[in-house]
Amino acid sequence: MMNAGLYIHIPFCLKKCPYCDFYSITDVSLQPVFLNALSSEMRMTGGVELVFDTIYIGGGTPSILDVRTIGQILEIAIQSFEILSGAEITLEINPGTVTLEQLEGYRSTGVSRINIGVQSFDPHNLSFLGRIHSRSDADLAVKWAQKAGFENIGFDLIHGIPGQTKESWLFDLRRAVEYEPEHLSCYMLTFEPGTPLGRDRSMGRFKPLADDLVGEMFKTTLDYLSVHGYDQYEISNFARAYSTQAGNNCSEDNRSRHNMKHWSFAPYIGLGPSAHSFLEPQRYWNCTGVKKYIQELASGRLPLEGNEWLSLEQLMIEAVYLGLRQTRGIMIDAFDKKFGVSFELKFKEVISDLEKKGFIEYSPNRCTLTPKGMLLFDSIAAMFI
Ligand code: SF4
Repeated sequence: MMNAGLYIHIPFCLKKCPYCDFYSITDVSLQPVFLNALSSEMRMTGGVELVFDTIYIGGGTPSILDVRTIGQILEIAIQSFEILSGAEITLEINPGTVTLEQLEGYRSTGVSRINIGVQSFDPHNLSFLGRIHSRSDADLAVKWAQKAGFENIGFDLIHGIPGQTKESWLFDLRRAVEYEPEHLSCYMLTFEPGTPLGRDRSMGRFKPLADDLVGEMFKTTLDYLSVHGYDQYEISNFARAYSTQAGNNCSEDNRSRHNMKHWSFAPYIGLGPSAHSFLEPQRYWNCTGVKKYIQELASGRLPLEGNEWLSLEQLMIEAVYLGLRQTRGIMIDAFDKKFGVSFELKFKEVISDLEKKGFIEYSPNRCTLTPKGMLLFDSIAAMFI
């Protein structure tokens, strides 16, 4: 079996950003009881017959937890689960919530990778996104993470923000690349229903950017990052190439090992409110509310809310969906072998249609999206269903 990933969701933020649909609350007074509940969940779930080579502490804003708390969480995780030495241990941090001393402390607890929610270096964009941090907070968080000695640093950036221009996006990319992070996630802003931004959009309170401009920004991202030594390996994810002794450029080790698990059917266990787990062919998930999560664990029950067993047909659709997200595409031989069907025959008409329109490239071994296709990922993936 493939090595597994452990995800730990810290459901607290200092303020809710209006575009965010991740589960988090701002009532940090629940933190101590939550941490007890999380420890119980780790102890109750531990013993699972999996070997883990990644831990990802995400949220929410995990960096509102102090060094001692992050250290305790990792200690209990290591006691409860079989974690390989050299595991990738990522901590998400947000600018405006960290200090240099804190980052040095996190490193001493065993965190090996830092993912920074920069989002933008432009004050207008940060204000539209309702972020608590300023441009200089973002700069400081990056400088401190480097000074603290982290050798694997990723930034999240957002484009497609109303009011943003191609030039301002290029400014963000340039500034990010100047810091030479190992990893960049460049997400397109989406207006999720149920979020304040989604509601404002449906009420016409702002004008979203034109699709053409968003498309140009995506193209700018691919061109700029490729020229500056970053390999795209998933629609929104780029890893910095490094020179091996043999002199080849290879970005393999700078990819997010943990996130790769989500795209490759590897097992993962999610802990904390709203966290999802996947053990093929089963997916299951925790309840969302922090209070309910705490109550369930206090009563000695795992806080599970639901589960589904994926049929072969559903797994197949998932394989198409996940394969198309990655630049290596759907590996046809592996697909045919796994599902006992011919990918080519099953999706003959869709493939031919998409190929003619220039949305996919098809070779006997792979089916990959072109950059033009990546922009229309959702509608293209839906054509395979
Ligand atoms: S800091 Fe991150 S998790 Fe928290 S509300 Fe903002 S986007 Fe969501």
